Amino acid sequence: MSDGERSARLFERARKLMPGGVNSPVRAWGAVGGSPRLLARGEGARVYDVDGNRYLDYVASWGPLILGHAHPAVVTAVAEAAARGTSFGAPTPGELELAELLCEAVPSLEMVRLVSSGTEACMSALRLARAVTGRPRVIKFDGCYHGHADSFLVAAGSGVLTQGIPGSPGVPPAIAELTLSLPYNDLEAVRRACERYPGEIAAVIVEPVAGNMGVVPPEPGFLSGLRELTRREGALLIFDEVITGFRAAWGGAQALYGVTPDLTCLGKIIGGGLPVGAYGGRRELMEHLAPVGPVYQAGTLSGNPVAVAAGLATLKALKEPGVYDTLESKAALLAAGLTQVIRERGLPCCVQRVGSMLTVFFTPGPVRSLTEAQQADLEAFRRFFQGMLAQGIYLPPSQFEAWFVSLAHSEADLEATVQAFRQWLG
Ligand SMILES: *Cc1c(COP(=O)(O)O)cnc(C)c1O
Repeated sequence: MSDGERSARLFERARKLMPGGVNSPVRAWGAVGGSPRLLARGEGARVYDVDGNRYLDYVASWGPLILGHAHPAVVTAVAEAAARGTSFGAPTPGELELAELLCEAVPSLEMVRLVSSGTEACMSALRLARAVTGRPRVIKFDGCYHGHADSFLVAAGSGVLTQGIPGSPGVPPAIAELTLSLPYNDLEAVRRACERYPGEIAAVIVEPVAGNMGVVPPEPGFLSGLRELTRREGALLIFDEVITGFRAAWGGAQALYGVTPDLTCLGKIIGGGLPVGAYGGRRELMEHLAPVGPVYQAGTLSGNPVAVAAGLATLKALKEPGVYDTLESKAALLAAGLTQVIRERGLPCCVQRVGSMLTVFFTPGPVRSLTEAQQADLEAFRRFFQGMLAQGIYLPPSQFEAWFVSLAHSEADLEATVQAFRQWLG
């Protein structure tokens, strides 16, 4: 393993030109220290840095690469689409095909609008919810992340959490005060908020499995309770399935838990590693959007043919029978191995997993909320991250993120990961 010297040199240059040297904060490795590796190439479950080091990757571009890096079907689809023209700003058949697949797979979707990121999907879904209900307020949950639109940067997860900042300067108080952030898995807090602001809540938005404070599953009754409360209150329930869509199950977490939201946000996997997001729901709600209705939302590159081709190739591969069973058994194998090591050594850690997303928390757990996630020993996580990296295992560089198992991880890869954990402990 070389020392990452070339990465460090390039990163020094990058820091002069881009804030923190990156285009998305968590990439700067602020929580784990050291200089991030600049990645040159990926193949299957592996990435290669500019120093020629090879790593087994569990970041998977933060979720999209459920087939692994540079999957041949995706690469071919992208190349063929690009050769036909990269963008038209006009309707294309690929968009139709993707919309059909999304609506067929995800229970709550009758219609969708494609956008270019998860941020756009969530931001636009909230605008639609406010327009349809004529109400201003939104309820979210501490530690959930819904992209970086103003309304959601209140007690947000992911990079915001990793940076240790509560929200963001630049979000006007007049906007921030319309967002109520409540503890995850706390139905009683939602009930109280509905009582406090009767007729004012447009929507409750939730990650049906939280992935942006580390993996925190919904407690039994939490999602169905939200469904019931929002229905009673006349608010819309929005599932942010940007991570869980086509990961927790083919139909997303809503299929897994049997709770159907009014609106669903998608991203990540549906773009297969290229920029695609989507939001959708019942026809009657979606037809409030322009050009049918008055709610404006648009995008020059929305439904981009190259990005859509990558998404379609990915979803078609995921539609093959048995894929989600395979993912489940791979991730279960990894989680069982890690849990075994934790037990052997009596570590104050726990593994939380839903399907192919998991987190090793450096706290005994169970972790049910942001407050509990924040009990984690971040210094121990930092040492763990660096120790694993030194053995060629590339983990998310933050305690508050999910590891993603892909179809490209072999049993041997997963066992090697468990072995690296053991090795690091000495
Ligand atoms: C990643 C993520 C987003 C934001 O998606 P971008 O494509 O990064 O804008 C929104 N919600 C959730 C749950 C996410 O994990």
